[in-house]
Formats: sequence, C-alpha cells, structure tokens
Amino acid sequence: MAEAKANLKQAEKHSAYESFLARLNEAADMTSLDQRFRDILSVPERVVTVNLPVKLDDGTTRVFEGYRVVHSSVMGPAKGGIRYAPFVDLDEVKALAGWMTLKCALVGLPYGGAKGGITLNPKIRSVDELERITRAYTRALKDVFGEDSDIPAPDMGTSQREMAWIFHEYSRIYGYTPGVVTGKPLHLGGSKGRIPATGWGVMRNTMMALAEMKMDPHNTTCAVQGFGNVGSWAAKLLQDEGLKIIAISDHTGGYHRQEGIDVREAVKYTKKNGSLEGFSGGKRISNGELLALDVDVLVPAAIENVITESNAEFLQARIIVEGANGPISANADSILDEKGILIIPDILANSGGVIVSYFEWVQNRRGHYYSEEEIQAKTAPILSDAFHRVWNTHVEYKCSMRIAAYIEAIQRLATGIDLEGNF
Ligand code: GLU
Repeated sequence: MAEAKANLKQAEKHSAYESFLARLNEAADMTSLDQRFRDILSVPERVVTVNLPVKLDDGTTRVFEGYRVVHSSVMGPAKGGIRYAPFVDLDEVKALAGWMTLKCALVGLPYGGAKGGITLNPKIRSVDELERITRAYTRALKDVFGEDSDIPAPDMGTSQREMAWIFHEYSRIYGYTPGVVTGKPLHLGGSKGRIPATGWGVMRNTMMALAEMKMDPHNTTCAVQGFGNVGSWAAKLLQDEGLKIIAISDHTGGYHRQEGIDVREAVKYTKKNGSLEGFSGGKRISNGELLALDVDVLVPAAIENVITESNAEFLQARIIVEGANGPISANADSILDEKGILIIPDILANSGGVIVSYFEWVQNRRGHYYSEEEIQAKTAPILSDAFHRVWNTHVEYKCSMRIAAYIEAIQRLATGIDLEGNF
C-alpha cells in the first residue's frame, strides 16, 4: 500500500500531458511537421467535466467529478476507455485521450481518440454505488457518447460490468445501441477475445521484439508490474510462450522467484483473494525493486509515471514493453535510451485492446459475430504490420521505437487533416 502511495506521488509530480506533448514535439521536429498539424494535435478537441451527485448506500449524497476528453475525431469517431481511480484528474485524462488518438492512427483504425475518468476509489465503493455512479456519468455524457461520435471502453478500475451499465443506460435513452460502448460482456454483444486482447497484444509485441533482437524466448526472463487484466494476461501468455516470469506485482507489492513464478497459480490466487496479498509463490519485494530487477524483459502494466528520471538509471532490463499507458515519463526516455534499453511504446504495445474493441463495434453494427480464432486471425496482422512499420521507421530515422511510433501516427493524422481541406 505504501508503494502504491509512492507511485501516486510520482504520478502527481509528473504531468502525463507534458510527456505526451514532449514526445509529440520531438516526433514533429524530426519530420519537420507543419506547424498547423502540431497546433491541432497539441490540444484536445473537446473537454467535458461533469459533477455527478450520487446517493451512497448510507443515505448521504456525494458529488463525484468525472471527465471525458475527445482529443481528436479526424480519423473517425473518438475511441477510448474510462478510468476509475482516486488520482484521476484532467491532466491525466487529456494525456490518455491524446495517446488514444495516436494509438488508433498508428494501427490504422478508423477512430480518433478519447478518454474518460471519474475520480473515485472503486475498491471502497459498493457495486450498487458503482452502478449509480456509472449510470449518472452515462446520462451526463449522453450527448457526447455515440456509436458514430465517441465510443467508450474499459480502462483501469472498470470492466465488462461497467460497460454493460453504460450500454443499458444509453439504450434506455436512445434505444438499443450496442455499438456505443465496447468491452461489453459476451451476452450483451461483447466480442470473443476482448478480455485477453490487450495482454495478448503485449505478448505478440514482445515476441516480435525478441525476434528482432535475436533472443530465444525459452532463455528469456521477464518481470511484470501490475496484475490487473493487462498484466495478468500478459504474464500468463508470455509464460505460455516459454519466457520465465520471475516477478509479478500488484498494488499490494511484488513477488519474486528466480526459478519462475507459476502465473496460473497467481491468477487463481487473485480470483479467490481479490489481490496478490499473501501470495506465497514468490519472495516479497517492493514494486520499486521489481522495476530494477536484472531481467531481459520488463512489462510495466500498472499506471503511468512509474519509471521517471529518479529511478530510470537503476533499470537493468534489455527490453521494456509498455502494457500500461505512459508508464515512463518523457524525461526518463533519454536515460533509458542511453542505457541501450529497447522500449516498445504503449501506443504500439498495448494496442491489442482497442483493435479488438474495433472488431466488437463492427460486429455490433453488422449483427454478425466472429469466433475467437477469427478475432485473433484478424488482429495478428494489424499488430505485426504496425510493429514492423515502427521498427523500420526507428531504423530509418535512427530514433527510439517510441518516437518512431509517434512519427508513424502523426504522419497518418497529418494526411487526414490535410485531406479534410480548409475549415
Ligand atoms: N483502455 C484501453 C486503452 O487504453 C482500450 C480502449 C478501447 O478499447 O477503446 O487502449
């Protein structure tokens, strides 16, 4: 818990939006991007703040602050998750929305980028309270959300359950509209493969990076920070590919076992106990210690700004695959680059989630549903194409994979803006 608070403090000190802008400008400088594209992409199109009075279980009323930021709709309807966390603020939601624009453009989805959030601690709220808050948020944003305008999805602190409430509340107002939100339960128009999608994409990106680095997966160690949907699936699937997962962690702390952690056991344990607290399959370490372990692959899959200029020099991994959005602050990038660490950036590494969200939306609109094999068969080439484009750009421009990913994304966005003409 103390560690989670320490992370929280770090996140407060570093503006995620400044990290977004710093990288955007670096990529724009490298490609001599016209100033008008830079101006357009540097600010969100729309920022909405809502205050939601919600009755709590004890009969009192509390006003929750929520946000929805549409960063860009140039490439299509805005797309992005909704986050419930105690530290959610506008700066963070703006950055996350900007990253969604870049992510969707990078992998070539017909979407812009958005993000939403409510400042609350879901762990201390009852299910009934969370339902009332989610429904109030949906009502407040009924004119922003829409299957052709802005399509939410799960993010940290939200899941299928919240998406079902959003779908239902929105459909009460406008009639049956499953395509208004993705990440829904299967029974309500969700897609096969959506739950593991982000972790699956992290695994595929890791495998492609290992191949480029000529590293044998069966001779590769890995540490995964964060054991939510993304971290736990990534750890499990990487273990299936032969990597040795030597450490995992969640907000209660880290667990290290040099001979390898049994990830399936850890998943079972968290399902039963709610967290990794008390897990005996590894020696207790802190989240900070996990990041500094001598591993081949590090997967930060928790929150943003866990790697900053204050701890970057201690990292020993050869490859970092960003399961989370923004886990490395902009000023830590150069330290890690100097150390020769290959970073597979968030907008590429964790794009599997939104790609399968796209297929969910397509299925909802066509009323025709795919098998999990079909979803994977459609997603894999998108991931592979994006990875190799970014790899080639990184070689061509002699820049990091992150800046290469930004270059790829902003070039597509600039073309889109240009083709729209004068407005
Ligand atoms: N929240 C996820 C992300 O950051 C998924 C977004 C989506 O599926 O729209 O990519």
